[in-house]
Amino acid sequence: MFNRSEFIPDSEWNRFKEFSKDLETPNVVVNVHQVKRNFIKLRDSFPFARIYYAIKANPGEPILRMLADMGSNFDIASRYELDKIMALGVEPERLSYGNTIKKARDVKYFYEKGVRMFATDSKDDLKNIAEYAPGSKVYVRMLIDNTTSADWPLSRKFGCHPDMAYDLLVLARDLGLTPYGVSFHVGSQQRDIGVWNDAIAKATYLFSSLEEEEDIKLQMINMGGGFPAHYIQPTNELKDYASEITRYLHDDFGDDIPEIILEPGRSLVGDCGILTSEIVLISRKNNTALQRWVYQDAGKFNGLIETLDESIKYPIITDKDEAGAKEGEVILAGPTCDSADIMYENIKYRLPLSLKAGDKLYWLSTGAYTSTYASVEFNGFPPIKTYFME
Ligand SMILES: *Cc1c(COP(=O)(O)O)cnc(C)c1O
Repeated sequence: MFNRSEFIPDSEWNRFKEFSKDLETPNVVVNVHQVKRNFIKLRDSFPFARIYYAIKANPGEPILRMLADMGSNFDIASRYELDKIMALGVEPERLSYGNTIKKARDVKYFYEKGVRMFATDSKDDLKNIAEYAPGSKVYVRMLIDNTTSADWPLSRKFGCHPDMAYDLLVLARDLGLTPYGVSFHVGSQQRDIGVWNDAIAKATYLFSSLEEEEDIKLQMINMGGGFPAHYIQPTNELKDYASEITRYLHDDFGDDIPEIILEPGRSLVGDCGILTSEIVLISRKNNTALQRWVYQDAGKFNGLIETLDESIKYPIITDKDEAGAKEGEVILAGPTCDSADIMYENIKYRLPLSLKAGDKLYWLSTGAYTSTYASVEFNGFPPIKTYFME
């Protein structure tokens, strides 16, 4: 059992219970006002940075609208995200095409819509940008290896070695583009703040070597996401991330720090969602088995994909969590006919013994990478529904 008040204050919990009491399960309820508070907190912690919300974390329209009103910029990964955000009236100057894997015709599409900032990490992609988005600003994503301390690593697939980043930025200039800066992503839910230090050092090396050897003056570092939400494993507070990272920047750049971009996803929306599921069946595999299998109507295919390899460990609350309630080990599984649809088996969650079919489980901190990070109709189950609480 988890101490709910460590994750959510009573007043917010009561408001959530009232809001969600008649909603069919499974569902995710997102507190948009809390996203706004997180945005303000991040903005105030990094007053020198520009924020580009990584839409994929939660593309809910009320969230996008609120962030657009708050003056946020947006990191876009596909033409579909582009269409969605522009339909809300966000100007192309506030957008960056941050996906390094893109079709030439999508580069053209973004350019025609007015987007002038592109990420890249390869020669062929850079050539496409030069051809279909002439004159645009490009930044090169560096490979960051040190991601074992991130709960959901994003490396390996993206970025290139700093030596290659160097060559690409020179080529960008030679192709008539603006070599604007470098980017990295230290891995999502990064619990080791020191990883930013290594990444910033690599960026600093590129800034100085390109200026000395090629007379290219880079202007921007895009530090990606990686800031934490609150799950079971403790993390430092955002203010600690901010003070350390700010110090790394000043150590390397003195008073003359470059333009800084942040691309938060998880840290803005993660804590702001609660996924409610209903227990379908509780069973044991033999008469003396100590562990109960708890099957419920949310699983890997409809919202809980980040439990893959038991990576993200959500706190789970029930209505039977009174002090002193007897509890026992459970294996938590989803409703589909796929044996991969098991969320936690190695990590020993303990839930009250009095739970039965029809009872609800509340998965806290499920505002990021749940509602759309899911299958469409596997076994006929529809995508999980999201509700927004203002
Ligand atoms: C997913 C993603 C982010 C958001 O990362 P979080 O760890 O969720 O904050 C930022 N930038 C890029 C390029 C991404 O792909």
